[in-house]
Amino acid sequence: MDRAKDQKRRTIEETLNRLYLIKKSAPKAGYWALLIIYLATSAATSATASSATEVTVAGYTVPIYIFAGVLSSLANICIILMAVFYDTLGVITSLVLIAIQLPMIISGIVVRHNITSLPGVFGDVLAIIAVLFIYFNNRKMSEYQRVLRDQAVTDMLTGLPNWFACTELIDELVRREERFAVCSIDFNGFKSINDSMGFEAGNRVLIEISNKWKSIADSGDSGTMDFISRLNGDEFSLVIREFESEEEVLHTIRKYDAAVNETIDAMGYDFYLSASFGYAIYPDDAQDMDSVISYSDIAMHEIKRANSGEHIEKFTPEILKKEHTFEMEMKLRAAIDDDRVFFMLQPQYDMTHKLRGFEALARIRNEAGEIIPPGLFIPVAEKVGLIDKIDSIVFRKSAAFVGDLIKRYDLDVTLSINISVRHLMKKDFLDDMRKQLEESGLPSGHLEVEITESVMIESLEKAMGYIHELRNMGVQIAIDDFGTGYSSLSYLNSIPANLLKIDKTFIDGVSSSDKAKQYVAAIISLGHIMGYEVISEGVEEDDQLEILREIGCDYIQGFIWGKPLPTEEVEKLVSEG
Ligand code: C2E
Ligand code: CA
Ligand code: CA
Repeated sequence: MDRAKDQKRRTIEETLNRLYLIKKSAPKAGYWALLIIYLATSAATSATASSATEVTVAGYTVPIYIFAGVLSSLANICIILMAVFYDTLGVITSLVLIAIQLPMIISGIVVRHNITSLPGVFGDVLAIIAVLFIYFNNRKMSEYQRVLRDQAVTDMLTGLPNWFACTELIDELVRREERFAVCSIDFNGFKSINDSMGFEAGNRVLIEISNKWKSIADSGDSGTMDFISRLNGDEFSLVIREFESEEEVLHTIRKYDAAVNETIDAMGYDFYLSASFGYAIYPDDAQDMDSVISYSDIAMHEIKRANSGEHIEKFTPEILKKEHTFEMEMKLRAAIDDDRVFFMLQPQYDMTHKLRGFEALARIRNEAGEIIPPGLFIPVAEKVGLIDKIDSIVFRKSAAFVGDLIKRYDLDVTLSINISVRHLMKKDFLDDMRKQLEESGLPSGHLEVEITESVMIESLEKAMGYIHELRNMGVQIAIDDFGTGYSSLSYLNSIPANLLKIDKTFIDGVSSSDKAKQYVAAIISLGHIMGYEVISEGVEEDDQLEILREIGCDYIQGFIWGKPLPTEEVEKLVSEG
């Protein structure tokens, strides 16, 4: 385990050095260059010092030994530069070199009585003083910088590594492609400690629990290599390494969980805590740093939300789906509360391009004002029981708008609204409809309710009762997405509908496949035999339009003649006739 701790420390150290560029080491080549220059200049110094040769410089004749001083100063500069740039190695090399050089100079003076080398002795002594001075100064600086660095990666309250250290470690592990687990930890109801006992007590509790966790991580008792850090507030993160199986990860997390569940003594009080742990494994669950962190968070939030008494949850793709559902649910609720649910109207035409009416399609705007398409929120709304609210809002708003339009322009148009099965099955569905219809001012004969085929099959009897009642109110009924469910002729025959809506998926094929064309033709004939009119949805091309005319379709709704429009454009369309 010592090896483990060592490695842990090294990782952080490396990380910090990289970040602060404190040990921005000079290139190794420089060290060798300085050494070579030093040896060359020293050799030249001793050669010139004892030479009687004279040379001519700028017309003057000078003895060559006067250059010895210059060369020896150069050698000393090399020594000092080594000490400055190459830390301990530089200092040791410098001292060794001086220690070799100095006796040689002294012996030269003593044996050959050559006192011209005397300044060299002073030079070396000064160099020793300079090197030692540099050495001690460097040590002081390093210590100071180490303290600074430690502060940057340490959480001041608990003494654990902080968020920064944690993400750096994860980043490093991902870069090394090492398998590890990230576990997000969050205390349950920690806020109540702060609220009832004050921040001081909250802090003491965090310190106590951190100490326990630190000793688990340091002892190596868990059997894995653990790195516990405090992110902020009551959020912690545990990075687990060196495990063979997921069982070992779970075993480690249980140890940390058990430590939370012991009574915590702080400021003379006993605190009983619990925490939620969610984990994800790299690279099994996620292949980059951001995902592995966010997935462990998602797993942690999931176990918190479940509120089942369990504390530990492993990330799975199903949880991610649930989380997305949950996020969308929050967005939906906020949109409903802030009145950001609205509608668009898509025109429907007969085959001569005469306006039949409009289908109201739900939209929501997010907080930034961007439109979210129904494909994203309708399935969630259905799942979490918000669809009847959406249906009602769309009904209320679109009926008021179209009712007003009909009055002002003396129009004969139908407003089609979508009703989901959940809405249809509600006890007070009919009362709601009556009330809303009255308030909207839309004559009931101008309202059409679209119900999808599959919905009616699932809940035939009850639905049938309501549908009959709607018919009695004068409301028209359309069977939506026809062809996508398991239609049976007998049931189809029993529905008091006016209109069959053929789904876009069948229309897509009519111009390219004879089979698709025959199929749509058969649906249209069948619909007519049963007394329904037929509308084709999702018509986009002229070819499709031609074929639909040929096989006797009554109406079309599609981008070819009109996309879903905002109210201003509907107004424009109507006013221009
Ligand atoms: P839907 O009821 O089948 O509505 C028709 C969908 O087809 C609309 O998509 C419409 O924009 C699209 N569409 C129409 N013509 C074309 C075309 O030519 N090309 C293409 N590519 N698409 C076309 P939208 O508005 O995205 O609605 C999707 C579904 O969401 C609707 O399918 C409906 O099932 C549901 N929905 C929309 N609004 C509501 C609502 O207020 N209540 C309920 N319960 N469901 C709704
Ligand atoms: Ca529809
Ligand atoms: Ca449809």
